[in-house]
Amino acid sequence: MAAADPPLDASAPKRRLSLSRRASLFMAAVLTAFALVLGAAFALLQQQEARTSAKQEVEAYVGIIARNAGPRIHDAPRLTRYLEIAEGWREIQRTAIVAPDGTVIAAVGAAESPAERRLIEAVRARGDVVSIAGEGVAIAAAPILSDGRPVAYLIAHQRTHPLYAQGATQIAIFIAIAAAFLVAAVALTLIFVRRTVAPLAQLIAFAERTSTHGRGERIDIKTGDEFEALAAAFNRMMARLDESMRRVQRLAYVDAATNLPNGEKFARELNAFTARADANGPTGAVIVIDFARLTRLLETLGQDASHDLMARVAERLRAAVRTVDRVVRTQSFQEKPTFIARLRQHEFALIAPSFPSPSNVVRYAQMLTSAINQPFEWRDLKLNLDARCGAAIIAHDGGDAETLTRNARLALHAAKDAPGAVKMFTSALDRDVEDRIALEHEMRAAIERNEFRAYFQPKVNLADGRIEGCEALARWIRPDRTIVSPAVFIPLAEETGLISQVADAIMREACWKAAAWAREGIGVQVAVNVSALQFRDEAFPDHVLKILDQAGLPAFCLELELTESIAMENPDQALRLIEPLRERGVRFSIDDFGCGHSSLAALTRLPFDVLKIDQQFVRGLERDRHAPAIIETILAMAATLDMQVVAEGIEQEREAQFLRRRGCLIGQGFLYGAAEPAEAFAERLRAQHRAAAPVRGKSDAA
Ligand code: C2E
Ligand code: MG
Ligand code: MG
Repeated sequence: MAAADPPLDASAPKRRLSLSRRASLFMAAVLTAFALVLGAAFALLQQQEARTSAKQEVEAYVGIIARNAGPRIHDAPRLTRYLEIAEGWREIQRTAIVAPDGTVIAAVGAAESPAERRLIEAVRARGDVVSIAGEGVAIAAAPILSDGRPVAYLIAHQRTHPLYAQGATQIAIFIAIAAAFLVAAVALTLIFVRRTVAPLAQLIAFAERTSTHGRGERIDIKTGDEFEALAAAFNRMMARLDESMRRVQRLAYVDAATNLPNGEKFARELNAFTARADANGPTGAVIVIDFARLTRLLETLGQDASHDLMARVAERLRAAVRTVDRVVRTQSFQEKPTFIARLRQHEFALIAPSFPSPSNVVRYAQMLTSAINQPFEWRDLKLNLDARCGAAIIAHDGGDAETLTRNARLALHAAKDAPGAVKMFTSALDRDVEDRIALEHEMRAAIERNEFRAYFQPKVNLADGRIEGCEALARWIRPDRTIVSPAVFIPLAEETGLISQVADAIMREACWKAAAWAREGIGVQVAVNVSALQFRDEAFPDHVLKILDQAGLPAFCLELELTESIAMENPDQALRLIEPLRERGVRFSIDDFGCGHSSLAALTRLPFDVLKIDQQFVRGLERDRHAPAIIETILAMAATLDMQVVAEGIEQEREAQFLRRRGCLIGQGFLYGAAEPAEAFAERLRAQHRAAAPVRGKSDAA
């Protein structure tokens, strides 16, 4: 089944020579060397033996000839004949009889050799047979005795047998045995080593599968040797690796607090779903659910408590999904369950795979929010989760996880004001976002170019129309001189964090201008609006004091306007930020009073000096029958709390008259002037100053 084998890693080293082949080669080399050594030793022994036997033979020969030559010693012709008869004996090559004085008495065969003389000397000295064996020849000498005395010496040369001749058969046999042994040993080694290392091939295949697929099944080797131990170690290692992988996957894909899949897992799941989605199949939807209300609460909780809270919220979400699934998705929910994940701190998301039509998605989401938003108790707290949903239709509103989640979030953003706190994604939302992105881009450049200016709107004394102060309002003046309203850019600046830079520019300009007017003798108090983001920064008081210092404006000339919602977001922090500034003389006012839903009791805990009645009540004086009563109540309350009141948005003299009669002292509105550039406003102050001067002069004289 080679075809089913996993593709091997190309980087794996190729095995050029298997272990069994190596062992066989090694064995062959050892055996060959052994055979060679053995052969050489054998040859040496053979040679040694050949020499010894040649010596013995030539010694025997000279012994016999010498004995027989003794009686004939004085008869040279007989002696020679005798030698000639003996010459054919065995391998004798030369036989000679030498007199004691060195003359050759008789000789047959080969020529004399230089060794003969030395040998005769040795025989003379020893008195007996002496022999030597050299390369290819053995020479022996013996004394020829007559009456017991040496009368001459007999020398004989015998050819020793060449090696091959001596042991050729044995050597041939030896070589044949050695070769057979070699072949058998190599074959046996090959078989033995192959068998022994067979589990190694299994281990290698296992390791290769593991390295290719990341995980391998168990390996089963029962050899009872090191391989079995190694296989067991491999199995243990794989089990541990599997366990670690599972743990890593859990950490990477599961949210610890809620045990729900996390954002990463959600994106994978959604991508897999969109890849499988059938264009003509049932409608699938991505629904993002946000519990923005919980932000503040979660910030105040420790980790354990916030985990516990979110676990409960997730439980409630699961239960709500189960219920709504049954009602809206009827049968399909069982075969295609809804996938729930936690994306961010208080944001969850669903992949609901099948709806009969898109309108069912809205119904589903609305039922879901109303189920989740049932009052909820947690650790003695009664919570309203205030969930909102944004939904995007799979394939229609995006073909991948990123686009779908983004679009569902855009819808979520717009869900705040939508019925049932549910909004479906539309392309108009997308265009809004594009416009906002373009505007943000433009705004960053505008900050660089210093295009944000403070315009000043007068706050007047309703009794005599005198300017008592002013409010600095931000304007963005584009290079083409068009003016962008703060209603357009302030919310975006707050969202993008650019508000700090814009607000800083306005605060600086307001303080600088107010200080310049004060130096000119036309000074009035200036009010500056504070955004939520600025008021979350603990360094805010120091920052304001620094600006006052740099501008040279006395603190009592500055008023800071906070909306109810900013002040009430975190009353304790608000108090911390207000106190140090108030101590230095900065005044604080509640802007747009009456439109928030803050509790009056909580609001009165904060040390405000001024209360600004929201313009909707002033404008409502004509149309809304409740508006006069509301304004009267606010005025009465302010009097009780000893707060000054400023009425905003006065456009008609009738409105001014109503307010004046009810004891409201200060007003602001188009009736007295819209916000205008610093120079125009300064001109207005100068005019007021000039007009007042003669009056002052007269009264001084009086
Ligand atoms: P706000 O602080 O309540 O400012 C009063 C708004 O009412 C100003 O709008 C002003 O032009 C407008 N207004 C004044 N009198 C009348 C009137 O008689 N009729 C009508 N219809 N409107 C009148 P503007 O300048 O468009 O500012 C809108 C809001 O933007 C401000 O409301 C304030 O909340 C915010 N804003 C303005 N400048 C800044 C700033 O520098 N920083 C911050 N954080 N917010 C600012
Ligand atoms: Mg204001
Ligand atoms: Mg206002």
